Amino acid sequence: MKYRKIGKTGVDVSALGFGMMRLPTLPLDPGNPKGKTGIDEPQAIKIVRHAIDNGVNYVDTAYGYHDGMSEVVAGRALQDGYREKVNLATKFPCWNCKKQEDFDRILNEQLDKLQTDHLDFYLLHSLSRKSWRDICLPNKVFDQLVAARESGKVRHIGFSFHDDLRAFKEIVDYSAEWEFCQIQLNYLDADYQAGLAGMKYAAARGLGVIVMEPLRGGALADVSPEVAKIFEPTGKTPVEWALDYIWNKPEVSLLLSGMGSMQMVRDNLLYAGRSSVGMITQKDTEIIAKAQQAIQGQNTIPCTSCSYCMPCPHGVAIPYNFQTFNNLSKGKTEEECKTQYEEWVPMFGKNAAGCVSCGVCVPKCPQHIAIPERLKEVAAKFG
Ligand code: SF4
Ligand code: SF4
Repeated sequence: MKYRKIGKTGVDVSALGFGMMRLPTLPLDPGNPKGKTGIDEPQAIKIVRHAIDNGVNYVDTAYGYHDGMSEVVAGRALQDGYREKVNLATKFPCWNCKKQEDFDRILNEQLDKLQTDHLDFYLLHSLSRKSWRDICLPNKVFDQLVAARESGKVRHIGFSFHDDLRAFKEIVDYSAEWEFCQIQLNYLDADYQAGLAGMKYAAARGLGVIVMEPLRGGALADVSPEVAKIFEPTGKTPVEWALDYIWNKPEVSLLLSGMGSMQMVRDNLLYAGRSSVGMITQKDTEIIAKAQQAIQGQNTIPCTSCSYCMPCPHGVAIPYNFQTFNNLSKGKTEEECKTQYEEWVPMFGKNAAGCVSCGVCVPKCPQHIAIPERLKEVAAKFG
C-alpha cells in the first residue's frame, strides 16, 4: 500500500480508501430472491477486513448508505482490533437537519452505530449551494461541526460536494477551519462539478482532497467494446486506467472505491500498490483522451446508481432503467436491452413508463440528471 498526507491534517492515509456505499448484498427474504436486498454482512466484514489487513487505513461510510445499515456494518467490521487500525469517516446528512439540535442528536446516533467514541473524519454530506445556504448556515451546522472537533468527538472536519465550481469556492472560502473536501472526479468529469479546477483550488488552500466516483459509478469499469479496444494493447484494465488517472495527481490524498466483492478488493489493492504521483506519461494522456472522446460520443445517462433519488413515490426503479438504457452503449443489442427493460427492471420496481413526472426525485440527484425527461427517453426507446 502507498500512503499520502491528507492536506493540513498531517495524517497519512492509504491511497485507496474503502467506500461502504456499494457493499455486497443478499435478498432480505431468502424465499423471494427478487425482493428487497440488504447487506451480506459476513461477506462485507470479510472484504473490509481483508482490505485493512493489506494496508487500507481509511473507511468511509455515511448516515444514509444502505438504508442506514452501512454504519452499523462498519461498526461491526471494525471490532476485534480493526477500529484502531483505520481512519473512520462518516457524513452528516444535512437534508435531515430541520433544527439546530439535530446535529448533536444525529452525530451521537452515528457514534453509537459505529461503536466508537470519536470519528477521525466527519463530513457534511453532499453539499450544494442550496443545502449550504438553506440548511447548513441557518442551522449553524458549521459552527457545531467545529464545536464537535473541539469536544473530541470528531478529529478532522470537511465536506463532500456535488454542485458547480462557484458553489465549491464559496464553501471552501467560508472558513479556514476546513481541513479536507471530498469531490467527484474521474477522467470524464474533469470539468464537471468541482472538477480539476476545484481540486487545485482546495489543495492550494491546504485542504486534503478525497476523490469519490473515480469509476463514475462503474461506468468506467464496464466500458463499451470500442473503449475496451483502446485500452487493450496496454495490458491495463479500464479500472486501472481510471484509478491511475486520479493517483497521478499530486493534489489527491486518496481515492474511494465502493468495493462490493473480494475480487474488486484484490484488484484495487494491486493497483493501489503500483500507484504514484506522476505515473501517467504523455502517451498515457493521449490514450485516456481517446477513451474520453469515445465515451462522450455515446448517448448515455450519467447515472452512478447511487440511489439517492430512491424510493420513487410511484415505484419507478430509476437507476435500473438508466442502467438498461446505458447498456445500449456497452455492446448489448437493442433486443437484449428491451428484454432487460421488460423482465429485469420490474424485479426492482416499475419501468420508465411508470413515471408520472412528479419531480420529487429531481433535487435529490447529485448528478443533476433531468430524471423524468430521461425516463421518457428510456420509455420511448423500449416501450
Ligand atoms: S418524477 Fe418520476 S421517477 Fe421521479 S419521483 Fe416522480 S414518478 Fe418517480
Ligand atoms: S438518477 Fe441520480 S440519484 Fe438516482 S441513482 Fe442515478 S445518479 Fe443517483
